[in-house]
Amino acid sequence: MSTLQISDLHVSVETDQGTKEILRGVDLTINQGEIHAVMGPNGSGKSTLAYTIAGHPKYEVTGGSITLDGEDVLEMEVDERAKAGLFLAMQYPVEIPGVTMSNFLRTAKTAVSGEAPALRPWLKDVRSSMEMLRMDPVFQERNVNEGFSGGEKKRAEILQLELLKPTFAVLDETDSGLDVDALRIVSEGVNRVKENTNLGVLLITHYTRILRYIKPDFVHVFVAGRMVDEGGPELAERLENEGYDRYLAGAQQAD
Ligand code: ADP
Ligand code: MG
Ligand code: MG
Repeated sequence: MSTLQISDLHVSVETDQGTKEILRGVDLTINQGEIHAVMGPNGSGKSTLAYTIAGHPKYEVTGGSITLDGEDVLEMEVDERAKAGLFLAMQYPVEIPGVTMSNFLRTAKTAVSGEAPALRPWLKDVRSSMEMLRMDPVFQERNVNEGFSGGEKKRAEILQLELLKPTFAVLDETDSGLDVDALRIVSEGVNRVKENTNLGVLLITHYTRILRYIKPDFVHVFVAGRMVDEGGPELAERLENEGYDRYLAGAQQAD
């Protein structure tokens, strides 16, 4: 069983006003097969955490560690992280003009597994995954994310998740901009991958809505660059009723 461990992680970005520390000592351990929801207000640093795990060059790690089965993730290049089994679905997926979904998926699969998948079974996998995500097959020939609606982008991300079969997935606000039907289809996709491959999930969200469909084993409250509380699914319900006010008051006093 694999473990993704984040310890006392400190991360800064360069802004016009100078260096700003955004993550201020994040601790989180995720075992394979577990779903961890990270919930917090806007601007608390949730996407920064996701980008740092993915290896985005804008985010400078100034302290702490991220390890995958004891291996130093921070020492790995972005492609090495993917090969090691990490997957990130971004809050704002990028468009890749001139590259079709079909080419992109096969190239990504080849890069992650170290060899090109056999064509026929691969095409069959792609078709059946798209069918389960209710994606029209014409999307295979469209350029990655170009002109996709919000919901189509999220489905395309879950399609990658299904086909690449990572060990851990970081899903950043996968629920944002989805109507109820799309939310259900996307959530079913995540649950299906988790059942089939024992995926570990870091599910970042601002709202509790998606947690009705993807049941977390653990809920973490993230405020001002830190985990400030932790519990089971009941914590998500309390956040829905009470919001983040009591944590925000605490964070302000701590500053
Ligand atoms: P969340 O995802 O929780 O809404 P973010 O991680 O996107 O939060 O942002 C946390 C804080 O860091 C915000 O104040 C944001 O403006 C700032 N921030 C994030 N990325 C950058 C960046 N590249 N340059 C400047 N500020 C940034
Ligand atoms: Mg610290
Ligand atoms: Mg965000």
